Amino acid sequence: MTVSAQTSSGVVGLAGRFPAGASADEPSARLRLAGRPLPMVSPARVYVCGITPYDVTHLGHAATFVWADAAESVLRSVGVHTLASRNVTDVDDVLTTAASRQGRHYDDFALYQEYLFEQDMAALRVRRPAHAPRARHHVPQVRQLAAALLTTGNAYERDGHVFFRGAVAAADSGLSRDRALALASEFGDDPADPLRDDPFDTPIWRPSTAEHPAWPSPWGWGRPGWHAECAAMALATLGAGVDLLVGGRDLVFPHHAYQAAMVEAATAVTPFARRVMHVGAVHVDGRKMAKSVGNLVLVGDLVRDHPPAAVRLLLLDRRWGADWEYRPADLDAATAELEQLYAAAGRPSRSSAASGAVTAALLDDLDVPRAVAVARDEGGEAARGLLQVLALG
Ligand code: ZN
Repeated sequence: MTVSAQTSSGVVGLAGRFPAGASADEPSARLRLAGRPLPMVSPARVYVCGITPYDVTHLGHAATFVWADAAESVLRSVGVHTLASRNVTDVDDVLTTAASRQGRHYDDFALYQEYLFEQDMAALRVRRPAHAPRARHHVPQVRQLAAALLTTGNAYERDGHVFFRGAVAAADSGLSRDRALALASEFGDDPADPLRDDPFDTPIWRPSTAEHPAWPSPWGWGRPGWHAECAAMALATLGAGVDLLVGGRDLVFPHHAYQAAMVEAATAVTPFARRVMHVGAVHVDGRKMAKSVGNLVLVGDLVRDHPPAAVRLLLLDRRWGADWEYRPADLDAATAELEQLYAAAGRPSRSSAASGAVTAALLDDLDVPRAVAVARDEGGEAARGLLQVLALG
């Protein structure tokens, strides 16, 4: 075998090698997330629970995707390759109902909504993920998942349904039984369905009536359940486990609990996600932003009057897990803060250690407020680096 000295293959010879002990400070091992170390080995596999394309993107959705994007960017800034998958739940009863209300075919309606979403993401400089799986393209994987869970004894067939046995996932959630049942109902499940052995069982596969999309399966024509779709799409794009699962806080239970339980039961690889990043909800006038409440703040409206980077900074300049209240004045403050960061970036650096302090803050649970404070005070390379990592330029 011939060994040649190519730069991409590492340095041959002593000159240019790291001094002994330098590897102990490999920054990929310094990330802490949710209060615990999360050392990364490339590629970092990031699954982002994406949209159901039935409505416009509001600030609450955007927060999840901007935070996922920022987490990946921080990882890349310390040399970790990232492999992201952000799904599109384009087979969903909410979508089918919304499309039929407008007299549109659900496929056509979903593609249009997805196009609008992509525009908002582009405005907010959220990078396109390596994988953007659509539920409708992963029906075969859902069938395989159902078959796998039937084989392992974690699922059973009944009247054209395949139900996942979910009692353990519910018990492990730490929620009271009543609260867990209420959440299951709120997110589209039907715990009172008499077909189920247990109220916490959930459909991996269910039969479709005429108004719903349907695919053939060993259990008859039907469609996948929501949690099974995300389980199958994660398996199809990233394999049996992920380093980071990202989604809104309202997805903790039942969605992410069931997604993880299904993947773990089918693959015997645990945990499904090494770490979960549940992004805090956005409130307006004291209530969580939601279409049903009627207090939506749309990304498209905000970026019309303000620099998109200011909207991005507004979303990021806080702790990612905390709920927060949106006030229009805060967006003006974020715009002013962005100007301060730009001014700081144009100044000479006050300290050569400042860039390291910015990186240290970002690796410490993505502490953007601390990183911004350092960048603003120290200026120069620290500010330029922060603007770049957070895509605020
Ligand atoms: Zn999901």
